[in-house]
Amino acid sequence: RAKSTGRQRFVLFDESQQTAAMNVLELELALRNALHAGEFVPYFQPIVRMDDRSTLGYEALIRWQHPVRGLLGPGEFLPVAEESGLIEAIDWHMYRLACTAGAPLVAKGGFISINISPRHFQYEDFDQRLLELLRETGFAPERLRIEVTEGTLLGDPDAVARILERLQAAGVSAALDDFGTGYSSLSYVHRFPLKKIKIDRSFIRDLGQENAQRSLAIIHAVLSLARSLDMSVVAEGVETEAQRQALLEIGCQRAQGFLFGRPQPAAYWLEPDGKA
Ligand code: C2E
Ligand code: MG
Ligand code: MG
Ligand code: MG
Repeated sequence: RAKSTGRQRFVLFDESQQTAAMNVLELELALRNALHAGEFVPYFQPIVRMDDRSTLGYEALIRWQHPVRGLLGPGEFLPVAEESGLIEAIDWHMYRLACTAGAPLVAKGGFISINISPRHFQYEDFDQRLLELLRETGFAPERLRIEVTEGTLLGDPDAVARILERLQAAGVSAALDDFGTGYSSLSYVHRFPLKKIKIDRSFIRDLGQENAQRSLAIIHAVLSLARSLDMSVVAEGVETEAQRQALLEIGCQRAQGFLFGRPQPAAYWLEPDGKA
């Protein structure tokens, strides 16, 4: 009995592994086709000042307009895109669209923020390529922000710092995304030219609830250190009025979240009752 169970388990394991491998290959192929078919599009989510709810800028977030499955978020395909390296081509496509579709959103001010896969930093000329894209699309470097994650900084810190320095000198400032989910401290982060810190939404989730003390203390510490380092702070994932109040009370002014607006196509924000 033990033997047959073992055998059964082996077979099951083997089959599911095969299925998983197949799915990855299928997805990779589908991603390649989707890129060429133009199915990747940017959605834009406002980043706001919480006191008067005015829009400071928009983060461009990738969506896959799948002909059969509908609109897919990055959670469904980004891991495979990263793993396969396809994210490089997909991102360049996205950055171009973020600039062209996003331009009308920032015509009167504000910025468009794009997410940079860690992979791009293996190219010492990443900044040159990005600036070239801005020239081609006529998008002002001062209106573009880039978002990088802690993991990116750990890769080849000196190379990453050089690229960020050159971008900043050209007018493109950088933000640290999902802060608090990795292992780096703000003092480490300070070695990089970063203008903004985005506090991960896992810390925002507890706010306005009973056990908010720990997250509040962390956010408070990030705020005061950021202030002394001349960096601005954005709270990610603000969904409730209670969270907005709690953040304002401890002096956090900027945020992004469903409370203020979900990611939408650029046209949505340009409608007469939109915000741009
Ligand atoms: P991120 O850069 O941290 O983006 C914020 C994510 O939080 C987005 O998820 C956004 O839809 C979600 N979000 C915003 N406000 C709320 C809220 O109030 N509640 C909840 N539950 N979620 C909220 P999304 O669009 O699924 O993107 C996931 C991640 O995929 C992004 O996290 C970013 O790391 C990555 N990503 C998105 N677009 C691109 C891209 O064009 N290129 C690359 N390389 N990565 C991208
Ligand atoms: Mg981001
Ligand atoms: Mg984030
Ligand atoms: Mg995130």
